[in-house]
Amino acid sequence: MLKHEIFGIPVNALTYQDAVDWVAERVAAGKSSWILAINPEKIMKALADEKLRRLLLQADLFIPDGIGILWAGKVLGKPFPQRVTGVDILVLLVKEAATRGWKIFLLGAPPGISQEVARGWELKYPGLQVVGHHHGYFKEEEEAQVVSKISAAAPDLLFVAMGSPRQEQFIVNNRAVLGAPVCMGVGGSFDVLSGRKKRAPVWMQRIGLEWSYRLLLEPRRILRMSALPKFVILVIRRKLGMLKLEGDKK
Ligand code: UDP
Repeated sequence: MLKHEIFGIPVNALTYQDAVDWVAERVAAGKSSWILAINPEKIMKALADEKLRRLLLQADLFIPDGIGILWAGKVLGKPFPQRVTGVDILVLLVKEAATRGWKIFLLGAPPGISQEVARGWELKYPGLQVVGHHHGYFKEEEEAQVVSKISAAAPDLLFVAMGSPRQEQFIVNNRAVLGAPVCMGVGGSFDVLSGRKKRAPVWMQRIGLEWSYRLLLEPRRILRMSALPKFVILVIRRKLGMLKLEGDKK
């Protein structure tokens, strides 16, 4: 599958259908796999933190979440066929799970939320097998217990909604013990899907302003979002040849 690199982080050039096909292959092969959603914030964090970059590089599929990634691809001559968001791919995979018999486990968000999301899905997608759920506010010393609960439930797909980089760290630490599920970090998706937090109206999503809507709802995100203008400047400097990177031909 075509993979671009944006400032040292790979990002797959794929469609939603490609992602579903990829997951189907992985489940059938029983191969432990990690899907990571890439946005400008993660790229900026990885640039500043080599340990985090190495952690992220352990993912198997990198989806172009975040309109900034699509824009960077266009500017740098590395086009992506479409934006593939974490929350949309999550819903799509759950629908597929219901028809294909994949078992799912939901981990993360405050107590009660993952259960609420699971119930909603079970009603909406008959046949869906939610084999377990657990909130994301356990202590470090409880992690082994949570991992045992997941292993015992033997899901095919594990969705982890604990925010970044906690969810990524959890997946990397435990994927070997978890056996072979396809793991995916889904950030605040359970909050949105339970109706606890609103997602931007579709027209805002279409014109790439979803991030500004989140900022309106959660002004405390302003610090985190300062990564976005920094990313834009980096892309423009790169385009203008003002930024050299390791791996450039001398
Ligand atoms: N969360 C969690 N455990 C923690 C910290 C956060 O389960 O220790 C949950 C939190 O309740 C929320 C999600 O993780 O549902 C993070 O949402 P956010 O929108 O911050 O995700 P991000 O933008 O990092 O993807």
